[in-house]
Amino acid sequence: MRRNEDELNKMRKAGKVVAEMHEATRAAIRPGISTMDLNNVAAQVIERRGATSNFLNYHGFPAVICTSPNDMIVHGIPSAEVILVEGDIISIDCGAIIEGYHGDAAYTAGVGEISKEAQRLLEVTEASLFAGIDQMTKGNRLHEIGRAVQGVAEAQGYSVVREYVGHAIGTAMHEQPQVPNYWPGSPGPSLKTGMVFAVEPMINIGTQETMTLEDGWAVVTADGSLSAHFEHTIAITDHGPEVFTLP
Ligand code: MG
Ligand code: MG
Repeated sequence: MRRNEDELNKMRKAGKVVAEMHEATRAAIRPGISTMDLNNVAAQVIERRGATSNFLNYHGFPAVICTSPNDMIVHGIPSAEVILVEGDIISIDCGAIIEGYHGDAAYTAGVGEISKEAQRLLEVTEASLFAGIDQMTKGNRLHEIGRAVQGVAEAQGYSVVREYVGHAIGTAMHEQPQVPNYWPGSPGPSLKTGMVFAVEPMINIGTQETMTLEDGWAVVTADGSLSAHFEHTIAITDHGPEVFTLP
């Protein structure tokens, strides 16, 4: 789907709200805060900006952000009982709707001082996202994004999660086609001006295998190794990729 300039402007606005949710939650992360507190910080941004949440009630999801600490990859449900402690890493996935158009972006941050190993995972995962974004030029092929992500992650000995992938985005949060974070064996469709995608590598220190917890939402690494998640919403323009969700 190719979006016209009016649609792209609405998506820019939604992206700005998501970026503000990132800034607000990032500023609140510290030892002793609960993941529900972070959810409430993000909910205040949505309300202040007159946006609506695309996460709340999505297939019954009960919150406006996902909070996934340490070996949790994605889809953690915020809870007053999950208290962050010094040395944790926490993945925060945020989304918002403005005038019917969606934004979606995630980051992983450290809580206080974190290990060198964890810090390196965060840096490499974010770098893999931007290597993917660099491929988002008109005329290039969709799966070059995942090839670039995978190249950066695997060069550091990390693994790329296969079961969860990026996606086109617009009037729904998850639109077709999907955007794998690895080379799926074929180049995929050509990228055209006006296409918008959420690219979101999930990178593990250990195995790529995942497990879903009993709540039916939270996904963790099968071996308990740390996982990081970075995501942006990005449009293909005549002048290259435009990231809508940068703070
Ligand atoms: Mg997301
Ligand atoms: Mg997404």
